Amino acid sequence: MCGIVGYVGKQKAAPLIIEGLKRLEYRGYDSAGVAVLQDGKFVVAKKTGRVANLEQEATRHRLNGTHGIGHTRWATHGGVTDANAHPHVSSDGKIALIHNGVIENYVAMKKFLLEKGYTFKSETDTEVLCNLIAYHYAKEPAGANGDSRFVESVRKSLRHAEGTYGIVVMAIDAPGELVTARKGSPLILGIGDGESLVASDVSALISRTQNVVYLKDGEIAHLREQNFSITTLSSGAVSPVVDKVTWSIKDAERGDHAHFMEKEIFEQPVALENAMRGRFSEDGSTANFGGLNITANELRSIDRLVFLACGTALHACMVTEHLIERFARIPVECDYASEFRYRNSPLFHNTLFFAMSQSGETIDTLAAVREAKRKGYKVLAINNVVGSTIAREADGGIYQHVGPEVGVASTKAFTSQLLIGAMLALYLARLRDMSFSDGTQLVQALKAAPDLVRTALKEAPRIREIAKRYAHYTDMLFLGRLSLFPIALEGALKLKEISYIHAEGYPAAEMKHGPIALISEKCPSVFFVPKGEMLNKIVSSMQEIKARKGPIIAVVTDGVELPPALADEVITIPDCHEAVLPIVASIPVQLLSYYIAVERGCDVDKPRNLAKSVTVE
Ligand code: GLU
Repeated sequence: MCGIVGYVGKQKAAPLIIEGLKRLEYRGYDSAGVAVLQDGKFVVAKKTGRVANLEQEATRHRLNGTHGIGHTRWATHGGVTDANAHPHVSSDGKIALIHNGVIENYVAMKKFLLEKGYTFKSETDTEVLCNLIAYHYAKEPAGANGDSRFVESVRKSLRHAEGTYGIVVMAIDAPGELVTARKGSPLILGIGDGESLVASDVSALISRTQNVVYLKDGEIAHLREQNFSITTLSSGAVSPVVDKVTWSIKDAERGDHAHFMEKEIFEQPVALENAMRGRFSEDGSTANFGGLNITANELRSIDRLVFLACGTALHACMVTEHLIERFARIPVECDYASEFRYRNSPLFHNTLFFAMSQSGETIDTLAAVREAKRKGYKVLAINNVVGSTIAREADGGIYQHVGPEVGVASTKAFTSQLLIGAMLALYLARLRDMSFSDGTQLVQALKAAPDLVRTALKEAPRIREIAKRYAHYTDMLFLGRLSLFPIALEGALKLKEISYIHAEGYPAAEMKHGPIALISEKCPSVFFVPKGEMLNKIVSSMQEIKARKGPIIAVVTDGVELPPALADEVITIPDCHEAVLPIVASIPVQLLSYYIAVERGCDVDKPRNLAKSVTVE
């Protein structure tokens, strides 16, 4: 969590940094702050709440310097207060620091620094690291080479730091210089024309430059206006690779939409087209993935797949499990990444891992990837953010290619994960025993997904009306079967996240083993009711709810006829292939959650207590 921006160049730093922070606000919004080095001292403005609050505060402080750092916080250590907001300045006034992550051994460090006479104004782990750098900075010989003194003091301090960090540091005697380093938290350098930047995410750099360097764990970068250099924590030199970002600032803007979430919901047809572009074979019978780095023969010898993910991505994995087992007949297990890394479950020899994470920075998923690799397994990644840590550390993978997702509640990233999961099932099935004609049919079905989603989105005005009638409830159930059970989980998660209504997802038939006790006229249920062999069973579950006066919203596929008065509301989605159904069925529940949250006056893009990419454990 948390957003970081650093700038050194010829422009006034504070407005640029604040503009960058606004783009990173989805990463944390407990407080925001900016510090610039001007007239030989640090001037710091920081404030709890949103970046808009900081903007006013910054005006008061007259921040004119051309060299600065800024931060949006997602608090881990210490409450949400002005004092705990970043940047922090060391008690000797020599060092200013912003930090994303957690310094786990901060207590011992703090004790040491207190003995050395350093003092603290905040309760954060970050201020401790800031003072440790100041301690080493004071001890380093000033010597002829001011540069290396600054970098060396950061390097020495980080050798003592346990935990995770992405940091950007300024030193009082080093105007025009920033030192930045990472372990476990993302940092990207922006190489501009006569200016250098650093941020947690490309979206904060892209208005200044499209040339970026993805900093790796264990690397320290030294940025100046005209140039930069990178070394490792152990002092080795690094030859940086400069990448070009392929999307533009417009892709990260809200346009005419009220919220990013709304924009991203309606972008889904195009996002799905982008996710599948160029990924079907010429003969139209299978999928192709350029970057898997694993041969067809290796894949044929795999006996088991394990998918690791957290939150929404885990729901996408669960649908993928269903489709791979159904079409490719390979046993699949889905595991919470946070549990996998500690559980030490027995692993089979011919197992292949997949790690799914929109940002590619989810710390639990990253740790699980490292654990699987440590045990000698190949790990492939499914990520949206190009160059992310998981993408780089995995043996190969698939990019989602849906552009930046800013809304904290995932929508287009989720449905593109579903699409990629279905394409993967197709690809694996065709390497085994799926026939050419079944493969061709599945390709045609997947190609139809964007248009089917367009049709499903046309129900938005009706769903908005339904949302008005349901916004006052405090509990809701989401019920689905087979591949729509994970969509029920996702529907419940979406509603919880953005509208704060308590919601749970269950397999529809499981409802009578406990959750039915919740049913009354005060607890509505959202049922997924597709055509097919489960229809009558699902209708029976609905009858059981209705008999107990539970209101019902039914999401039915076109052509399903329900008994009269069984459902209070019916939302129709197009009838479609089972591989595409979870994608299409996601649309009404995304819209329902969105409109309910709007109706309740919730801050849809920045729900309380949440942040988009969870980079702390
Ligand atoms: N641990 C630090 C704090 O609580 C940084 C948290 C963050 O990543 O925003 O201030």
